[in-house]
Amino acid sequence: MSTETADPQQLDRHECLICGYVYEPVKGDNKGQIPGGTSFEELPSDWRCPVCGARKSQFKGLALKVSPLDFRKIFAMA
Ligand SMILES: [Zn+2]
Repeated sequence: MSTETADPQQLDRHECLICGYVYEPVKGDNKGQIPGGTSFEELPSDWRCPVCGARKSQFKGLALKVSPLDFRKIFAMA
């Protein structure tokens, strides 16, 4: 059990190169039963894109930090 709390603003988004789906670490992936706050690196190696089924290797890091404004927006949408 980890007591480490990741700062959501430090979590990078990753974009699927196949379909354009963006994995938002803040939101996680409901379909893949990934809780919010899970960084892309922490996803299981057999995790697949919820839209097209692409492997993690097909994802590209966007290297964009989530701004506090985006953060609020993401939560408002969730
Ligand atoms: Zn995809």
